[in-house]
Amino acid sequence: MDEVTANISFDKYPDMPEFYGSGAAKYRLAMVKDRSDFLDLFEGARHVDAVTYAETPELMVKMLTEYDIGSLDVLIGNSDDYAERVNEVATAKSLVQLRQDDRLTIRLKNQKTVHSKIYRIVMPDETVKLVHGSANLSRNSWEYHTNQIAVLTTEVGTELDAELKRFIDEYREGYSDQTLMEGLVEALEEADSPEERENRIEYWVGAGDLDVSDTAALNQDAVEDLKEIADQVTAVIDDPDEADETVAFVEEPEKADRSVVEPSDVDEPEVERADAVDEAPDVGLVESDNETGLTDGNHPVRFTNEGLRLDHKPENAIEWYVKIPHHEDYHLWIPAQPNPEQRGWLEALNAGDATMGESRLFERDGTWYLHVTATRNVEERSEASADERTAIGVDIGEASLVTVCHRDDHGSPTAPKLWADEGKTVRQLRKTYFTATRRLQTHGSEHIPESFGEDVWNQIDDLFHRVTREVVEYAESVENPVLVLEDLTYMRESMDYGEYMNRRLHGWGFAKLHAQIRYKAVEKGIPVETVNPRNTSRECHACGEVGYRPKQATFTCTNDACWMGEYQADVNGAINIADRYLSGESHSREDTDGDDSAEDGGRLTAPQDTQADAETQQETLGTYAS
Ligand SMILES: [Zn+2]
Repeated sequence: MDEVTANISFDKYPDMPEFYGSGAAKYRLAMVKDRSDFLDLFEGARHVDAVTYAETPELMVKMLTEYDIGSLDVLIGNSDDYAERVNEVATAKSLVQLRQDDRLTIRLKNQKTVHSKIYRIVMPDETVKLVHGSANLSRNSWEYHTNQIAVLTTEVGTELDAELKRFIDEYREGYSDQTLMEGLVEALEEADSPEERENRIEYWVGAGDLDVSDTAALNQDAVEDLKEIADQVTAVIDDPDEADETVAFVEEPEKADRSVVEPSDVDEPEVERADAVDEAPDVGLVESDNETGLTDGNHPVRFTNEGLRLDHKPENAIEWYVKIPHHEDYHLWIPAQPNPEQRGWLEALNAGDATMGESRLFERDGTWYLHVTATRNVEERSEASADERTAIGVDIGEASLVTVCHRDDHGSPTAPKLWADEGKTVRQLRKTYFTATRRLQTHGSEHIPESFGEDVWNQIDDLFHRVTREVVEYAESVENPVLVLEDLTYMRESMDYGEYMNRRLHGWGFAKLHAQIRYKAVEKGIPVETVNPRNTSRECHACGEVGYRPKQATFTCTNDACWMGEYQADVNGAINIADRYLSGESHSREDTDGDDSAEDGGRLTAPQDTQADAETQQETLGTYAS
């Protein structure tokens, strides 16, 4: 027997509505073999509330259009990385459009698993079908299974209907804490132009990634704007009259609103740091007769190693801040523009792998500089010459966060290693951050603690540190290794290579990963070289022809004479990078750009007056504090 039907009336007990409610319902218990038979229940519905499962959001888009459904509000169970499944710009667009038209809301459960299937299908004639059973919306579950459903048909607003609606509402409160596309829809509402809308959709889908602040990075203009604002907010300016507030760096603190101290031991009071940045006023300097202090390059302000802190906020457009203690428990926050070549040092300091010594703040030709001394231990580099070395290509990518590979003694690619799960984790974390900060900006911080963004970025940072440590360990397992990276200075210039490059440069904290690999390699005495990155991801490592990537993870060689055909795309890229070093294309443009370069191999290994195995290196970090 496939089906049972019955008519249930609640009107027989009008004096006991607390038990039976009002209205009547038709009851139907049925076995359903085809997904389409099940979906027929939804045909022409005015509105559907549901708690269920569907493997992709596309299925729901299809349902809405093919079954002529007015609107659908669905809580999806077991939906880890659901947003990850929106990979097509076109799908994202229709999802956004449906959402903006209030036709589709997809609520995602977080952590808790929902296995229930409940549907409330409101028809245009004001009848409502209340459905429960085993049937979900996914295709998979219909291939091998027969589902059973119970349908109660009643009128909208009867107590039975209201009860079921309340039941669904409780699910939504208890299980759901974000809705699919929410961050994107809000971001789109703020977009100024169709192009920007397009960018933001591409970005969300993952076809246009940017690092720094996800919000700021939505387009380059926003980044520039932010820079300007941040500079204004915390700029140290010469003319105290123009300042909102003055700080004395010199002997006449009574003339200042606040004074800078040169502390020896400063307790680190936990000031709300974000607030401190937001509210930091323009700071003027008090002129003094006997000493001009900061306005005179000869009399810089010195800080002991206790006096000053570097702070790193990868989520902001300006990533590095210098925190100067002054006035007991306040800090002056200055956005700093570090020399890109010194990023390795900053990463090392930030990770506690280098220690900060004395620092000086001074002005030269209208620009403020902060010199920081930093120390770290490095191992001596082996004496192997360039052609004795094994080149390990390091590819930073999207599908795989980092991929390394090298060629064995016979020239065959060997021991490829991919950090693919980590790539996925970072994408998820960034998406979570993006959605949550949007919510925070729009709705206040009811459900999201203020430290949320920092937590997410700390997780990303920890993961980066683990991966870069493992990359260096990989190199240590190879005889006479040299790590070969793509040259970031070329990368910066090659923005017009197109979207792909752009995406790689911004999307993956490219500079951050490179800097961490560099300083960790130097610590172990492993040389790092850079090569021109042009087409490393598009050329075939076997024949050199430019091929294409039918899928993100696959490289296809189009040369008929080439044996290769298809190859893992990231590994192909890594081998190309290694080969460029081997073919002598290596250069150290990135390294020699700045005199202070921490990665300048010569400077790091040259000192003769060193202890036995570990050399102590000192470098001056020239950091602009503007
Ligand atoms: Zn080929």
